[in-house]
Amino acid sequence: MNAPLPAIEVTPRDLSAYRAGNTGIDYVHRFESGKPGPHVMINGLTHGNEFCGMVAVCHLLDRGVRPKIGTLTLSFANIAAYQTFDPTAPFESRQITHNLNRIWSKAWLEGEDDSIELRRAREMRPAVAEAEHILDIHSTSQDVVPFWVYPAFARNAAVAGALPRPAVHLVMPAGLGSGTPLIQHGAHAGAEAPGAALVVECGQHFKQSTSDLAVEVALDFLGHYGLIDRDVLPPALPPRRFELLRTHVVQHESFAFVRPLIGFETFAEGELIATDGPVEIRALCDDCTIFMPARKAIVGREGVYLTKPLR
Ligand SMILES: [Zn+2]
Repeated sequence: MNAPLPAIEVTPRDLSAYRAGNTGIDYVHRFESGKPGPHVMINGLTHGNEFCGMVAVCHLLDRGVRPKIGTLTLSFANIAAYQTFDPTAPFESRQITHNLNRIWSKAWLEGEDDSIELRRAREMRPAVAEAEHILDIHSTSQDVVPFWVYPAFARNAAVAGALPRPAVHLVMPAGLGSGTPLIQHGAHAGAEAPGAALVVECGQHFKQSTSDLAVEVALDFLGHYGLIDRDVLPPALPPRRFELLRTHVVQHESFAFVRPLIGFETFAEGELIATDGPVEIRALCDDCTIFMPARKAIVGREGVYLTKPLR
């Protein structure tokens, strides 16, 4: 589990110039075109060390991109965690206390608990709730191919399927099973959502290519809705799709994979993938494909996602 640290090709930049937005919420900016059209939100830094979302949102802010129609909201979410980045411990600044991408339920947002992430989610809640279409930009700890993640609603599949990249889709028929992500807040949780809400995982956190992809996907997303002029080509090939079967949350310090895994390895039905104290995590189907194996197992955090390829 003590893998060498990856190269840090992209480092945090000072975002203080973007602190004061125009929404009354720090680091949340809204631009109205004055014309009818969709309200699109592009959010980065839900996890503090996932710099590609920061790069994509900065790309739009730095260039003064404004919507031709509708409304554009641009935001940086977990600034507090982002600001703790330490290149000698680059995985530590993902979050301070809570995973900001698992607390978007009414129960957490209106509950008694307090943390930096809960305060930030409560602060950002109106901005998230008002957006019709949301792109939440993420990256992975391991260097694997980029992929979409979204609840299995046709409205989400239609948008992800219309965009040229990435070409892998992780579809969640029953949510994450480990909390409520930003893209499932409020109306976006159910059948009545006003639009699509997608996570894009753009590659390894600290690689330049990951940030480059995040910029392209953000521009494609805005182009798809007509907020900017952009030719969005259809995908060259049909996507590879996987369905989330189970999210395993680590229960014991002794959690260990049977061998080093980075994601996208496949297992035969019943084959052992990991052990977590006395619990055996076994493949749930043939070609059971794992996503996002924890780089370091932390009790209470996700250990691995088990998925089934869709044919
Ligand atoms: Zn993330």
